[in-house]
Amino acid sequence: MNTEEMLLPSALTEYAVGPLDDSVRASLAQRLATAETPGVTWFPQSFTRAGDAVFIAFEESGAPLLLQYGGAAGACGLSHPTELAGNGAGHGAGQGNKAYVYPFASTDRENVAAFAERIDLTFLPRPQRDRPAIASGNRHPEVSLPAVFDAFRDILRETGLNLASTVQLSATREMTTDDEIARRDGRNPTAPGHTRVSIRHLYHAGLWAAIRSGFRYGYTAEADHFIVSGANDAEIAKSVEWVKEAIRHAAGYTKFTTDTSRVFDLRADMRHPQPLSETQIEELFQQRLTPEERAWVHAAFSKPFDCGAASYRFDAAEIKRLAVKFVPSLKLNEELFDSILQARHGAQFDFEPSLDEAETLTSAKELIFYMHWLKERGRPAQLVPPNLGFKKRQAYPETRAALEKYSHHKMWPEVMPRVDGEFAGNPIPELKDRVRELADVARFFDGTLSIHSGSGKQPEVLRSIGSATRGRLNYKISGELQLRLFDVLSEAREGSAERRLYDRMVAACERFAAQSAFGEESALAAQYRASGHGSYLGDAGSGRVDGNLFLVFWLGNMVGCKDEDGRFFKQGLDELPRSVIEESRRRNKEYVKWLASHLFAQ
Ligand SMILES: [Zn+2]
Repeated sequence: MNTEEMLLPSALTEYAVGPLDDSVRASLAQRLATAETPGVTWFPQSFTRAGDAVFIAFEESGAPLLLQYGGAAGACGLSHPTELAGNGAGHGAGQGNKAYVYPFASTDRENVAAFAERIDLTFLPRPQRDRPAIASGNRHPEVSLPAVFDAFRDILRETGLNLASTVQLSATREMTTDDEIARRDGRNPTAPGHTRVSIRHLYHAGLWAAIRSGFRYGYTAEADHFIVSGANDAEIAKSVEWVKEAIRHAAGYTKFTTDTSRVFDLRADMRHPQPLSETQIEELFQQRLTPEERAWVHAAFSKPFDCGAASYRFDAAEIKRLAVKFVPSLKLNEELFDSILQARHGAQFDFEPSLDEAETLTSAKELIFYMHWLKERGRPAQLVPPNLGFKKRQAYPETRAALEKYSHHKMWPEVMPRVDGEFAGNPIPELKDRVRELADVARFFDGTLSIHSGSGKQPEVLRSIGSATRGRLNYKISGELQLRLFDVLSEAREGSAERRLYDRMVAACERFAAQSAFGEESALAAQYRASGHGSYLGDAGSGRVDGNLFLVFWLGNMVGCKDEDGRFFKQGLDELPRSVIEESRRRNKEYVKWLASHLFAQ
């Protein structure tokens, strides 16, 4: 069928006037389900009105489009209209009205933005402030965003909680700018932008998915992990400039996670194998802080901090050590906060200065130092992200022996003695106690504890976190939604196109490992192969611990690399059959609902 000859169902034209809310949309949905529009899929929850026109998203033979009935062509800044012939006559209330169709894929950024900014403003993201959330990393936005919005709608209906932090990827790792994506040749699987999703694309894909699913209850769009790194001042300065460019691309987002943890001075930490002496600390304290800052920091931390059941006091030596460890990174955070404010033209946003990828576990006092510094200097954090010792896409160890192995080679000397001394060798109660202590610190600053690397955690861990934070938490996942898509591919019939695509991705990933493309972890590829794990990604329900953990961690990076035919794997994944997409969405939705049921258990 040709769009221009499409007949409008009378259900649509009849709703051109009169009240409009979700119950009206529900009855519209019923009418459209029985309407005679072959090859057309309607998104009735998108139905809305602006001026004298109504709008609804639909697909015709798989092509995403937007229909306008009434009003003038190009209303509200929409572009590339096609007028429908022969409509408007004999359709009741709307007699004499014209109808137009516009391209409306997630890549039709102008039309998607025009809809959200000028037709129905309820689809724009908003800051999260003190709301709890599951922040969902959508590495395949067109596949998983509809599923995630669906999940959040169900959760809202069932619990009254709106946990929607729907649009999220790391801004300088999983994503990057459009130019940088265009320059990526697929030869380095760990170069920024391995999802081939740009910062601007994810934002628009979020609007698009929100509109099509009719999610009018508010959601957060997060640009995660803007990472500053560099071995010296010149490299760091260059990295900061690049991060600022990424921030400008992310101006529409409402939550920003900065990551300056790579400039922490670990030698100032007593957990370091060779910590700096008091004299060295004194010298660096003088170097890194101006006389005014030195006087200020002592005064700022002179009073006790009463956080929940605990009271924390800082002595002068401790203040100096913490300042030497953190001040370079804190000053970078101040600078980045100001860039975000500028990019947002003063509009509100959530600030999340992350510590979660630090080498050391975050102590309550460190968290206080970090948050108080930023708050006192006018850059308060709404989200407070410590390092809890989580590894991405992996379960947290449940036994003493497993924890010992898991924490081997880590700069976490305090963990085993604490587990043994205070928790009878049980890792999870120890974790829960740490989370509770840190959540109390977050609350002291009117912040929400933000849990990173949340993918793959088992129910007991989720319930412990939910209870320790008393439901005020931000829980981040990324990668797991993608892994559920890969599960579907890997389970497909041997010889099927999707199974062959999966096998080629696995082969490419192992070839990169053989060339040491993943640093130290490259060696794991051969180890997991040799130990008979094959290309199995493990049981999703139990943290994938039985799977090939090399692939669990790195297979996703193949999306931005090239297949045998010279095309990016991303292209093959974008062309998956409907049935695979539907099954992946079903699993994505179930996963988010499952997470919520454990994290927010009553
Ligand atoms: Zn993180």
